[in-house]
Amino acid sequence: MNLILLGAPGAGKGTQAEAICDKLQIPAVSTGNIIRAAIKAGTETGKAVQRYTEQGQLVPDEVVIAMVKERLAQEDCKGGFILDGFPRTLAQAVALDEMGVTIDKVIDIEVSDSEIIRRMSGRRVCGSCGATYHIEYKPSQTEGVCDKCGEPTILRKDDEPDTVLERLQVYHNQTEPLKEYYEKQNKLYPVQGQEEVQDTIALTMKVLEA
Ligand code: ADP
Ligand code: ZN
Repeated sequence: MNLILLGAPGAGKGTQAEAICDKLQIPAVSTGNIIRAAIKAGTETGKAVQRYTEQGQLVPDEVVIAMVKERLAQEDCKGGFILDGFPRTLAQAVALDEMGVTIDKVIDIEVSDSEIIRRMSGRRVCGSCGATYHIEYKPSQTEGVCDKCGEPTILRKDDEPDTVLERLQVYHNQTEPLKEYYEKQNKLYPVQGQEEVQDTIALTMKVLEA
């Protein structure tokens, strides 16, 4: 099964992707993770895209499309995959169709802007090992310190309040039109994001069985 997870930044696509991964035993392909890894590794591409992510802007289509093309060509994607964070623009959706992969379902995680702002402003990540926390929903045992490695947890630059608003704006302008795109292909399955992660996962699983 080839799946797409659609939804605003902070809607919880990563968590849903993980749950689907476990259930269907197919890899999750997260463009956000691929991009962050490239930045951390200091590759040419990483250097070229860093400023976009820090400003809450999208990385240019041709860069992301090339990354996804390369990833989907790998052996482990042959039996299916979940795209998390791609496509995010109409041009990316068209490029994906042109890659000749058939998408079975597009799961659209719906969360209100106000809830998104709450979630993202509380998000913390370990600067060293990448473990994620939330000051309200998933705090580390000692505030500001990673449970796993003891290094400081930080607010990701793109989770800073101004950047979050910018990212939401970008989502509404550039990504939300994809709902209509996939609706027309009869592939769109909306899932209302719930307060409890497990409840959202349950709704997602229903969509997979439908
Ligand atoms: P979010 O928390 O917004 O879901 P991600 O971790 O998916 O963020 O992505 C982080 C950043 O990487 C985005 O703000 C954007 O700059 C860049 N990015 C990720 N996926 C794409 C994409 N499909 N197209 C363009 N830029 C992307
Ligand atoms: Zn850590």
